[in-house]
Amino acid sequence: MKHDRQPLSVNATDANQRFSRLLAESEQGRDVVITKRGRPVARLVSIGSDASTAAPLGVPAGSDVPDYDKRMALIETCRRMNATGLNQGTSGNASIRVDDGLLITPSGLDYDKTSPVDIVKIDWEGKVLRGHRPPSSEWHFHCRVMAAKPKAGALLHTHSIHATTLACLSRGIPPFHYMVAVAGGRDIRCAPYATFGTEKLADAVLAALEGRLACLMENHGMIVLGRDIEDAFKRAIEIETLANQYLKALAVGMPKLLTVGEMDVVLEKFKNYSAWADPKK
Ligand SMILES: [Zn+2]
Repeated sequence: MKHDRQPLSVNATDANQRFSRLLAESEQGRDVVITKRGRPVARLVSIGSDASTAAPLGVPAGSDVPDYDKRMALIETCRRMNATGLNQGTSGNASIRVDDGLLITPSGLDYDKTSPVDIVKIDWEGKVLRGHRPPSSEWHFHCRVMAAKPKAGALLHTHSIHATTLACLSRGIPPFHYMVAVAGGRDIRCAPYATFGTEKLADAVLAALEGRLACLMENHGMIVLGRDIEDAFKRAIEIETLANQYLKALAVGMPKLLTVGEMDVVLEKFKNYSAWADPKK
């Protein structure tokens, strides 16, 4: 059967011309309301205007949100934590310091589904300054630790398998290997257990982090600080590796521990890696 293409009707041509005219008005920043038989049915808002929630064309959604790069770094690091096995599911969380508070991962949201606008900005008391989601339930220790460690730019918390296994045995990591110094001291402590998301846990963690850049948390996981989020991520990988090695050594026997003097030599050589941190805090 032959189908002849119908010529564009006069009405359709008129509609196209009318739409082009409205579009041009919208592009000039005017508020354009589209009507049908005199009744408003739609509104054209110029992209980039204050009223528009859409990102400019060719720009990722949410890129106009303040601290966009830090928000993206937070999301990408959390995804890397899962990809490298440092974290599983949504159990871990992370924060980055900004001018007047912290950017923190939202509570219970899959990192693959998290966008920059989902990241929550909180003040030092955990009050939400910007964001439409609740902050991570662990905001207490993020706020307490980051306020007490003013030179730290980021904090990561994970339930990584080996560090958590040690923490479930109420063990920290003694100087069985010189790389323990990566946490800033002669050992990596394990904070006593307290319920997740409580001030009591924040108190315990803060004590375990005295003069340190990382600690384990009894029956829970680990916390790592960094100059920035990349630094924190690298340190978290090192500590998870140490926990793995220590567990393997314990499975065979009692590993030889380095002396205070030997660890002090290493700490001196490691100064460059942790020179940004105040060793007394
Ligand atoms: Zn946790």
